[in-house]
Amino acid sequence: MEMKYVPTTCPYCGTGCGFNLVVRDKKVVGVSPWHRNPVNEGKLCPKGNYAHEFVNAPDRLTKPLIKKDGKFVEASWDEAYKLIAEKFKKYQGEQSACLASARVSNEENYLMQKFARAVLKTPNIDHCARLCHASTVVGLAGAFGSGAMTQSIADIAESKCLLVIGTNTFEQHPLIGRRIMQAKARGAKVIYADPRLTPTGKIADLHLQFYSGTDVALFNCFMQLILKNGWENKEFIAKRTKDFEKVKEIVMKDTYSPENVSKITGVPAKDIITAAEWFGKSGQSAILYSMGITQHTTGVDNVKSTANIQMMTGNLGRPGTGICALRGQNNVQGACDMGALANVYSGYQSVIVPDMKKKMETAWGCDIAEGKVGLTVTKLINKLADEPGAVKCVYIMGENPMLSDPDLHHVEKGLKNVEFMVVQDIFMTETAELADVVLPAACFAEKDGTQTSTERRVQKWRKAQDPPGEAKADWQIFCELAKHMGYEKQFPYKSAEEIFNEIAKVTPSYGGMSYARLEKPEALCWPCPTADHPGTPILHKEKFTHPDGLGIFTPIEWKPPAEVPDKDYPLIMTTGRCIWQWHTGTMTRRSEDLEREEPTGWVEINPEDAKALGVADKEMVRAVTRRGQIEIGARVTKNIKKGVVFMPFHYKECAANVLTNNALDPTAAIPEFKACAVRIEKIKGA
Ligand code: SF4
Repeated sequence: MEMKYVPTTCPYCGTGCGFNLVVRDKKVVGVSPWHRNPVNEGKLCPKGNYAHEFVNAPDRLTKPLIKKDGKFVEASWDEAYKLIAEKFKKYQGEQSACLASARVSNEENYLMQKFARAVLKTPNIDHCARLCHASTVVGLAGAFGSGAMTQSIADIAESKCLLVIGTNTFEQHPLIGRRIMQAKARGAKVIYADPRLTPTGKIADLHLQFYSGTDVALFNCFMQLILKNGWENKEFIAKRTKDFEKVKEIVMKDTYSPENVSKITGVPAKDIITAAEWFGKSGQSAILYSMGITQHTTGVDNVKSTANIQMMTGNLGRPGTGICALRGQNNVQGACDMGALANVYSGYQSVIVPDMKKKMETAWGCDIAEGKVGLTVTKLINKLADEPGAVKCVYIMGENPMLSDPDLHHVEKGLKNVEFMVVQDIFMTETAELADVVLPAACFAEKDGTQTSTERRVQKWRKAQDPPGEAKADWQIFCELAKHMGYEKQFPYKSAEEIFNEIAKVTPSYGGMSYARLEKPEALCWPCPTADHPGTPILHKEKFTHPDGLGIFTPIEWKPPAEVPDKDYPLIMTTGRCIWQWHTGTMTRRSEDLEREEPTGWVEINPEDAKALGVADKEMVRAVTRRGQIEIGARVTKNIKKGVVFMPFHYKECAANVLTNNALDPTAAIPEFKACAVRIEKIKGA
């Protein structure tokens, strides 16, 4: 029996924990601790512990599939490539669109955006960051010039006051939750703001149980109290920022007094005052947030508000301070960094700047798509559904919009309008079912590559076993397909490392990285512009990334969500995840140990709301919004605020996204997953 341990990086959340894959007789059979990895120091959450279980699932895709007469039939790679190349060549520029993936490697995301722009000549390339942290990229880039988490994960433990808002960290990023506990053990105050009392909220010193969608009102009230009490950092504001007076004018309005904001948010005024005092006076306060903040029509406003508070209190650029925007999927940071976004090439180099386009054309040795912003995921789906024929061909890698996107009936209508669709994935997903060609891909354990965690740490995947059957690494598929399209010269790579070397050449923030440097367990955090640069765990130490080095305050008024409760739909619905499942369940639902714990979805209802509806715990109910309805089991619990209901979105049999609203933030184009109006109905006879 041959055994080996292969150090690699977890394929689930954006924390980027390291572990060893245990390999027996060339097959991955388990996970074991990697103690020297500084991110998690050998600890893992349940998902990490069982990250091997889906790898050898019996229903992995193993052969290319072509749909004939409505049924998939197995095909050779050559047959599949020929068909795809022939079809792809038919469509001109913007008639095609590509969706990259927050789950695959940096190298593969880089190649997909290159394939879209250089081979298909389309500006339409995006991915699901649009659905989770587009508001972070836009909001923090607007305030600081860089749209990423400002601190390292370990640094959270140094904080004296943590405002944890819109993130159930203990369930979604458990190994970041560990740093919250470390800070608390050292005496830090933890303020938790969320409509639910989650496991994260249970360890907090103060829970602000506010209505979903009232974040800006809460933030503005905090700032009013900070200014009234003189807790602002005058020196920081004067030396390192601009436009402070514009924010002051807004937040000092009566609208944002604790009494008024208590009415808007449903949080007692005294608790808001206490929280503002703890935060404003600690001298070392950090904000942790996730999709509870970003997935709103005011997502960018919410994010910019966190920036306003941190600039006002001077809580940036030092240990224990900053803004920790916790990225959801393992490589959503990397997919953004690699330019799998409609508006930027890798390293956030704008597609509308002619010099950037010229730079890419020179590097890639060919003409590329017009230098214009392409369709985002959300706008693409709308176009497919509402303007049939405008986009005829869609190429999707490792995404499952048929479960992850808002208003699923609308998504289905859109995808069914596509003339030719290719899906590249490891399993037959709900989206792949609609494709014309399905290509079998290798998973994280079957290829080399890198992924970039929420703290901008670029870490390695190392191949532990061969892919099943004829499945191939996504990067190999792009190279072979490009050859069939006549672009062999642009895709000559023999290894993931060769692709990474090209990324480093064209991407300034990755410029000093190489596979040799990333071998160390601590890897490197970007920006790392030169080969002798040590990487940058804390951003904005001396100055911000804007050309003048100053941070920009943005005055923001509170606006309610796009859809608010009324007599027909009297409750607010919000969605999220649980610790045992992941995203659309494609991987975790194939893990026996994870699936056993939470095998189906539920709707959390406050006991007072349940009583009014005559609904008992565990009873099946009907949840109805303007977009559709589902049947789902009720979980009656005091942990959810009265007037609000919560559903996890992992489960296809009770898909929460049938109900969610696809109203978009006007600048980030992120949908409002976190607030819509819903009616819960008792099912007769249930
Ligand atoms: Fe994996 Fe995230 Fe759990 Fe770490 S915290 S083991 S990265 S799922």
